[in-house]
Amino acid sequence: MDERRPLKDRTKLVHAGRHPFEQHGFINTPIYRGSTVLYRSYADLVARNAKYTYGTHGTPTTDALETAWTEIAGAAGTVLAPSGLSAVALAILSAVKAGDHILVSDSVYQPTRNFCDRFLKRMGVETTYYDPWLGADIADLVRPNTSVIFLETPGSQTFEIQDVPAIAAVAIEKDLCTILDNTWATPLFFPPHRFGIDLAVEAGTKYLSGHADLLLGLVSANERWLPRLRAAFDLFANCPGPEDVYLALRGLRTLELRLREAERQGLSLATWLSERPEVARVLHPALPDCPGHAIWKRDFRGSSGLFSVYLNPVSRPALAAFLDGLTLFGMGFSWGGYESLVIPFDCSTYRTATTFASPGPALRFSIGLEDPEDLKADLAAGFERLNAAR
Ligand SMILES: *Cc1c(COP(=O)(O)O)cnc(C)c1O
Repeated sequence: MDERRPLKDRTKLVHAGRHPFEQHGFINTPIYRGSTVLYRSYADLVARNAKYTYGTHGTPTTDALETAWTEIAGAAGTVLAPSGLSAVALAILSAVKAGDHILVSDSVYQPTRNFCDRFLKRMGVETTYYDPWLGADIADLVRPNTSVIFLETPGSQTFEIQDVPAIAAVAIEKDLCTILDNTWATPLFFPPHRFGIDLAVEAGTKYLSGHADLLLGLVSANERWLPRLRAAFDLFANCPGPEDVYLALRGLRTLELRLREAERQGLSLATWLSERPEVARVLHPALPDCPGHAIWKRDFRGSSGLFSVYLNPVSRPALAAFLDGLTLFGMGFSWGGYESLVIPFDCSTYRTATTFASPGPALRFSIGLEDPEDLKADLAAGFERLNAAR
């Protein structure tokens, strides 16, 4: 490969982690199933002298995904996990010990918060939630025992864009580990380690899968943090099943195509929603009037198909009339699949460092691959029902 002209992401996605001639020329790395790996001799067994030593430590299938993700994320290495949430937990547990204090963005994925409040607390690790709009001022919250700054940008549900370079600079100066949940952007739209992030988490359940048919997590690390991440992975042996890894590899090859389409579809629907009288505000970082847009534009290479809206005040029955009659939008958790989804949400009950300011109900949309005109017609009919039920 010509070092002066590095491959583009799309090309990397097609070629990364594949070795057809190590498998009789077949294009895709097959599904290796297995616990036991045989050694050729007593001496080899004692020395663990083999490329693969036991199923939990990796197979050619898991290797293919780890290697490919490492290349795409611009990392030194990657480990896999059986869900996005277990990847979050693994990343944090690689970096904390009893007696530590960690800083976590107030806008993180709610189950990440539950992990901090209900598990880390019990293990003697204290969490302070910080306002995601804090940049370099986060330094004021750092204590002598602070070990981690956990970021998620944009934030879950409310899409705050964090100033990652400013926060990473504080972390580097104070020798803290930065962990970023990068699920929304993926490394294609936000290359985490280039921005100084130590450990980057991706819920592969979302866009890497793209088909709502698997659960998977990935944690990539820079050179400095990879040994501690790999050691934690080996201690837990919390590994995903081979079929799920295979499906993720399959999804990887078309990730850029699907993300670019999700971006186009998402922007089309978000713009349309921003013109509706029932909508008070659209939270989509690529729209110029969204708070955080300037930082998004400075740091990100694209936007995905997940965004939220704040509605003007309406009654519960009117909201139910809107949601229950939708025919193309499904209601359910998770996102990033080929099908459009909508869920209502309310952050006012659990956030502690920010105030949730929706005037009426709030909705999160994941825009799929349907024709956008059909999606708009489904929502327009919903708004008619909503207005009739007022
Ligand atoms: C969905 C999600 C996760 C967790 O992924 P699972 O595979 O469902 O456990 C983590 N972080 C973010 C931002 C998510 O949206």
